[in-house]
This record gives sequence, C-alpha cells and structure tokens, in this order.
Amino acid sequence: MAYQALYRQWRPRDFSHMVGQEAIVETLRHQVETGRIAHAYLFCGSRGTGKTSTAKILARAINCTNPQEGDPCGECEVCRRMQADDYMDILEFDAASNSRVEDARELLEKVNFPPQFGVYKVYIIDEVHMLSNSAFNALLKTLEEPPEYLVFILATTEPYKLPATILSRCQRFDFGRIPAGQIQGRLKEATDGAGGEATDGALMAIARAAEGGMRDALSILDMCLGYGRKIDEALVRQVMGTSDRSFLFQFSRALAEENAAETLRLVDALMNSGKDPLVFSRDVSGHLRSLILAKCCGEEMAEILDLTEEDGKEYQRESEQISTSRLMEMLDQFMRLETDLRYSGSPRVALENVSLKCCLRTKETDTLALNDRIAELEGKIAQLQDQLAQGIVVQAEASAVAAKAPRRAAGKGVSPKETSTAPKQKTLTPTGRGADEIWKEALKQLQKTEPGIHGMFLMGQYVGSDGTEYRWKANPTFDVVAKSLNMEQRKTKIEEVLTEAAGVPCTFIAYDSAQEQQKTEDASDEAYLEELYSTFGEEPVDVVDELPQA
Ligand SMILES: [Zn+2]
Repeated sequence: MAYQALYRQWRPRDFSHMVGQEAIVETLRHQVETGRIAHAYLFCGSRGTGKTSTAKILARAINCTNPQEGDPCGECEVCRRMQADDYMDILEFDAASNSRVEDARELLEKVNFPPQFGVYKVYIIDEVHMLSNSAFNALLKTLEEPPEYLVFILATTEPYKLPATILSRCQRFDFGRIPAGQIQGRLKEATDGAGGEATDGALMAIARAAEGGMRDALSILDMCLGYGRKIDEALVRQVMGTSDRSFLFQFSRALAEENAAETLRLVDALMNSGKDPLVFSRDVSGHLRSLILAKCCGEEMAEILDLTEEDGKEYQRESEQISTSRLMEMLDQFMRLETDLRYSGSPRVALENVSLKCCLRTKETDTLALNDRIAELEGKIAQLQDQLAQGIVVQAEASAVAAKAPRRAAGKGVSPKETSTAPKQKTLTPTGRGADEIWKEALKQLQKTEPGIHGMFLMGQYVGSDGTEYRWKANPTFDVVAKSLNMEQRKTKIEEVLTEAAGVPCTFIAYDSAQEQQKTEDASDEAYLEELYSTFGEEPVDVVDELPQA
C-alpha cells in the first residue's frame, strides 16, 4: 500500500476525533442534532487549525440519516456512499487555484440540481478570499436566494479580505490556534501509531514550531520519521533547519554586547551550515521574545512558553544582561526583517544589515533606544565628573607624596574606617588606588565573573564612595534593579570584589533613583571644599600629570 502522509492518516473523521476547537465542535454538534443548519458557514483561522477537516465532518454529519451526538454514524447508506471519493453532493473547491470567474460560474452552475442521495448539497470553498470580485458576485447571487438543500462552507485564513456582503450572510466561526500541549498529545499518538519513539522534548519542539497548526506539526513529524524511528530534539532542529538554543544565546549575547565582529562571524557560520536566513530570523524573533518575557514575567515565563524550568532559568540569566527597551528594539528589527526577507534578493546582506543595526543602535529616532542611550550617557557623565574631582585629589596627593615623606608610613595604612568618622577625607586605600579606580577595577572583575551583576550596573551609575562604602544609583526606569543588587547574595559578591580591589573591607549599597538624589546633593560643593581644605590646607597645591603607580 502506498504511504499515506501522517496528516492524512490522522485527519479526524468525526468531531470526537478533533483536537482543540472544543467550543466550535460543541456548537456544530448541537446544530446537527437539532437540525438547525445554516445556509452559509464561514470558518476563519490560521492554517492547520482544523477548518477543512471540520467542514468535511459537518458536510457528512448533516447528511447522515442517523447521526450520533452530532457525528456522522459511518454506517447508514448515505454515510457509506459519502466515504467513496466520487460522492457527488459534497463539492470541494480550492479558490486559490480557481480564482477566475469562469471557475466559480462552472461550480455554481450545478447548484440548481438537488442532491442525489442525502438531504443537503454542500459546497466547501477553501481559501475563499482568493476569489476574484466577479466570482464573489456570482457566489453572492446564490447566497441571496439559496435553494433549501444548499449549504456553503467557506474557509479562509484572511476573512478581512471578504466583501461585507458575503460576511453578513455567513455564520462565522473563528478557529484559534491549537495549544502546544494538545498538539503534543496527538503527535505522541501518531508516533506510537507509526512504530516510532520520540522524547517529550522533541514532540514539544515540533508542536511549538507548528504554531498551533496540527497539519504542520504532523508534517514535521512525518519528515523526522523519515530520518529514523527515534526522534530527539537535535533531529527536529536538523529537519526544520532551525538553530539550537545555544547558538541563539550566542547570537543574542553578541548583539547585547554590541560586538559587531562576533555577530558577523555567527552569521557567516550560519550561512556556511546551509541555514535559511528567513527561518533564522524567525528563530531570533522567538528567542528575543522569550528574553523579554523572562525579564517581565520572571519564573512564570517558563510556563507561558512551555519551557522546562531549566531553560526558563537560562533565559532569565541571559535577560539580565540587556535592557528591556533594547530587547524590544531588536525584536522590532527582526520582525521587520522577516517580512523584508520574503522580497529580498540578497537575504544574507539583509540579515547582516539588521544584525549590525542591532549592534550599533543606529536607530536614532527610536525613542526607546534614545532613552536608553541618554541614560547611559548620563551615567558616563556622572562618572566622569566624579573622576575629574577625584583625579585632582589623586594628583595633588601624588605631588604631596613626592615632595614630602609618604603619608602611608611604614606599611601602616590609614584605615578608612577611622577616617570615615573623622572629618571626611577622599581617601587613598592601601592599594594606592582612588575610589573610582577601585570601582572600575571591581566592575572589570564582575564582568568576567558575574556578568549578570555587571549588566545590572549598566542600568544606573556609580555615585561615589567615602573610601569603604560604595554607592550606586539606579536610573529611574530601573529602580527595581537597586533592590535586586541589595539582595544578600549579590551584595556579598559585590563587596567581595570591592574588598579585593581596595585591599580593605568595603561595603556596597544600591539606591533607587529617588533615594540617592538627597544624598548626592548633601555631599555637594561646600562639604567637598571643606574636605579638600582639611586634606591639603588652604594653600594652593601643585597639580601634576602623573598618576601614582599602583
Ligand atoms: Zn450515517
């Protein structure tokens, strides 16, 4: 026997075998049972959601002489005749390949002949939005005064393309996407039926890729089974040409770090492995969306996206390194790329272009990106101002050290703990570094060992230190990050790194944007001048260019 594609084998023969669309099925069953059949139905919904299958079942159910709970019985004479392919009174018509008015006319010529066996003559018109205008007019004439025995079932993925005159004459049903869990269940049955074996993860990957369409899901499963009886996630990815998650993480990381060279290298690797840019850009969009959800929904995102707990955690970890606004901007770019790639003559160039745009943030007009950059620049300016002030102290100190006996005599460093209670003083630590240098050094270290924490620091700025306590302030949109940084585990890590860099015990505290405002103003101008006087006296000091060697 010739091989029959899985989606044909598993096409539901009656309502009780349908997966999903419970509400629609219930309504239609009820109509069959009560005999309240409309003259025209409109089934809308994306591909593979069961429109055509439902239409075929309905067509048979309303003709069956002994329906069982709204399902065709499969045993009466009409049912047996209907199972034959050449049954005359259920006519299927694909408007996508027969859109001309002559085609429609030819089809509609037969409407005046009553059904030969059953009660109803049923026209199923698939992709009805493809009909030409004059074909619609021909159809409309029939719909205006249909013979008693006539039923139209129109199916479409794009109902908004239908004329209002047609829409208003149909009973409309909207077919939603089938949940991944339900598709996975049917895939399991189909795999077992075909004598195959598949991991739950593999079937879920197929179900997710099918985006709510059962036909696509079964077709992908069919292709996988063509490679072997055992199906795992790697095979699914190979068959679909999609990228594995680790590659996507690598790619998004390169974008987040604005690492253009790495981004281009990854695109090159992708093209060399024969992947389709369109499929890849769709994968990237899905991946970015997951990162955004991880940022916004925390642990719940695993459930929303049908991910395992472990994968959910990985998304959360990664999402900490990039701001929501940038993620959204990137998603925007890649969604647009999907559309552009359909018309692009050089898909690779288009992919590279968008990837670079994401790296370089060239969209100056985008307010989200702009806000992001302003926040970043503000941070840099604050840091520079602080460095400038600190720099004068450090240089002056250096000249003092050069001129006179060193302050830090005989290995006994000035303990910053003591000085912090005494008249305030911008202190050099035992390592000979100023506070800003220590902060910078700590940041560098964190970037290597705790990239998550380092990423959070980008959502605000360092605001200063009294020598042992280091203060950081969140940007207004990221106040929540302050709380997060003050959490025991992170705080400890940060303090460890600061202590290491300073050579004395250090503490860290993060403020949200409102809290720290007060404190920085207090510490301004006058207090600072006093500090300078108390350190160097009121005489002018020499400022030299060399910084002390650490
Ligand atoms: Zn029957």
